[in-house]
Amino acid sequence: MTLAILPLIDAAIAAIRTDAEHLTALDQAIGDGDHGINMKRGFDALHDARAELSPLAPGAALQKAGMILVMKVGGASGPLYGSLLMGLGKALPDAPTLDDTAIALDDGIAAVKKRGKSSAGEKTLLDVLEPTSAALHAGLAQGLAGAELARRVAAAAAAGLATTQPMRATKGRAAFLGERSIGHLDPGAASSCLLIQTICNTLEGMA
Ligand code: ADP
Ligand code: MG
Repeated sequence: MTLAILPLIDAAIAAIRTDAEHLTALDQAIGDGDHGINMKRGFDALHDARAELSPLAPGAALQKAGMILVMKVGGASGPLYGSLLMGLGKALPDAPTLDDTAIALDDGIAAVKKRGKSSAGEKTLLDVLEPTSAALHAGLAQGLAGAELARRVAAAAAAGLATTQPMRATKGRAAFLGERSIGHLDPGAASSCLLIQTICNTLEGMA
């Protein structure tokens, strides 16, 4: 099965538009209250670029989308999401399978870590991305596919988000709060979870 990227981008745009206020509210608690605004600005720009993205192969479309997010999202999350999509897109072959996607996702995550000088356990989007990748690899190794694989990956993203609540932030603005960052979900982890669950739901619907 090859991956059709445009329906996933469309679903992601709709999800960010719907949940922008919630993401901003999470950032009001432990940041500067702009995460939803930043993400919506970036995903609105992806919407505006649909016609340019649609003829591209999945990898090229994701690289272009990543460049748009770097330019438009701003904040810490713009370059991080941009690195994720550019790293992922660069590693994808022209007609990617899910196995190709799992391998490429790791390149994207490596690019986020390099850009953010961060790793899982620091209360960031990596606390969702890493367990998501682990669940995707494990599911594929077990021979899972379609709706079952999508549900497994979506559950791992949700579990990853939940782990950020008791964490103390050591990267990003929330790190300035020290102990007071404990007890809140990380906004970037929440947007990553939203995007992964949206992609999984869309793939589940297409399976
Ligand atoms: P800003 O912090 O500049 O206002 P946003 O509010 O858009 O940017 O994004 C904040 C999110 O970015 C955090 O919730 C966290 O998930 C993520 N983040 C911040 N710094 C890092 C980092 N160094 N590594 C990984 N993720 C980070
Ligand atoms: Mg912010």
